[in-house]
Amino acid sequence: MIIGIDLGTTNSLVAIWRDGKAQLIPNSLGDNLTPSCVSLDEDGSVLVGRAAKERLQTHPDRTAAIFKRYMGSDKKVKLAQREFRAEELSAFVLKSLKADAEAFLGETVSEAVITVPAYFSDAQRKATKTAGQLAGLKVDRLVNEPTAAALAYGMHQFKDECRFLVFDLGGGTFDVSILEMFDGVMEVRASAGDNFLGGEDITKAILDAFFEKHAFPAKMRNDPRFMEQLFAAAERAKRTLSQQDHCVMEVQTKDALLQYHLDEEALVKITAPFVKRMREPVERALRDTNLRANQLDTIVLAGGATRMPIVKRLVTLMFGRFPASEINPDEVVALGAAVQAGLKMKDAALEEVVMTDVAPYSLGVDTSIVLSDKKSIGGHFSPVIERNSTVPISRVKRFYPLEDKQEKLVFNVFQGESRLVKDNIFLGKLEFPLEPVSSEENGVDLRFTYDVNGLLEVQATLLRTQKTHTMVIQGNPGLMNEEQIAQRILALESLKMHPRDTLEVRTIMARTDRVYQQLRGDARQWLTAQIVEFENIIESQNIKLILPAQAKFSALLDEIEKDVVLHPDYTE
Ligand code: AMP
Repeated sequence: MIIGIDLGTTNSLVAIWRDGKAQLIPNSLGDNLTPSCVSLDEDGSVLVGRAAKERLQTHPDRTAAIFKRYMGSDKKVKLAQREFRAEELSAFVLKSLKADAEAFLGETVSEAVITVPAYFSDAQRKATKTAGQLAGLKVDRLVNEPTAAALAYGMHQFKDECRFLVFDLGGGTFDVSILEMFDGVMEVRASAGDNFLGGEDITKAILDAFFEKHAFPAKMRNDPRFMEQLFAAAERAKRTLSQQDHCVMEVQTKDALLQYHLDEEALVKITAPFVKRMREPVERALRDTNLRANQLDTIVLAGGATRMPIVKRLVTLMFGRFPASEINPDEVVALGAAVQAGLKMKDAALEEVVMTDVAPYSLGVDTSIVLSDKKSIGGHFSPVIERNSTVPISRVKRFYPLEDKQEKLVFNVFQGESRLVKDNIFLGKLEFPLEPVSSEENGVDLRFTYDVNGLLEVQATLLRTQKTHTMVIQGNPGLMNEEQIAQRILALESLKMHPRDTLEVRTIMARTDRVYQQLRGDARQWLTAQIVEFENIIESQNIKLILPAQAKFSALLDEIEKDVVLHPDYTE
């Protein structure tokens, strides 16, 4: 059996082709979505999925998430005292999905089809295959995510040539791809997108709107735990509004219950700037392929954020017809991977033209944002070359020093998609002296040139003197070779995956730790009493008692989390 895997940035899924259709496989908690999170437990075992995600807040130094963005780079992530590459962390996720598939099928699984973003470079594709190898999976075939989404909607069964557009709005990125099928070959003809636009931005905007209604002193807004809870409340509100037309966010302070009512109309206003930004990549993709909207056969929705009615409406308006949305947008890529796996098992594998001649990451420098009171805040990422640009490419951006008569200018070069450079990968530093003149007179044109071999040349030209300073950065930082892979397989074997049969209890306990940290005073004591009772039942090892206790305890945690957010000044 070959399994299909959507190895996502936030969530991963596994599916198979069986009885003539693609079918999702639930994990040991019964969920189709497994968070792409990995945590090293104190007992030395590896936790993957929801248990690991729960530990992001309580055990940040032992837990990793969103490592997909480091695939194909040599960035290491530290968990406890050990260092891991993105391939290795991905391998844990793959191992966990493999185990779920094996438990579901009752047989050993040794081969997989894995999906990757269309803009993934050669290095990132190789790293994904290596992750498979480290997880004990043979990966002959990688499929582009938009191709998989189109396969899930049966694009390969269209008789004549046809064209699909995939509109994929995830948590942090927006990707538009136009696919063409001709003579049994599927090709991603164009892809466009916005690396800084996704469902998370909408959640943040809801939070901002909440703050507009209820002003809080800066001190509160700097309290990370309070902000996390508020963010979670805004996320819940957003999801509720995908199903009903009204909801309330509530915060209990010392003397009042602050409420924020959100309805369809408010959401339209909040999301307007984002919705506007969704048009541009669609227009660009159409322009690049010389197609008009009415020449597309099907519009496919992918990514969790396309569940929002506002987004569906926009797509309907833009294309003058309803998008295909029978399949859950967060499951469509995995189901397509299973279709490809099914085709491969029948030896009817479809050919795909793979685009790899693109800059896989955004490349840019760190800059400071100057606030209205002249204070400047550094560490912000300013891209010069946007991810997904066809290479070779050369782009120029103009910069000015922060101060008059500044002595030198330092450009730290980064690759990545994060707003803050600390979350991106540092590539190198270009430093040169300036003349003692005003900031305006010290303008610099910074040119980035990126070639097919992944070589990046950074050149700074002082406008006043036309003097240049250059730096060359070697591309495609280390991929693992066969010998290193063999060594790491041995090293990773010393780490055991947490057993599946106790993962549910482990997940509940990880969640309990997080919820406990959010509570105060009497509520904490009360929860402690409940925990002790629950642990007592678990220790009894009586499965008849354990199952209902698990359900009851989870429901209790749901109830606590559904509650209003408690303001830090609130005491019982
Ligand atoms: P993905 O990266 O495809 O998993 O998409 C994750 C994004 O989809 C997150 O920003 C979620 O908040 C968003 N999302 C998931 N379900 C819903 C929903 N029912 N309504 C609105 N947004 C959702």
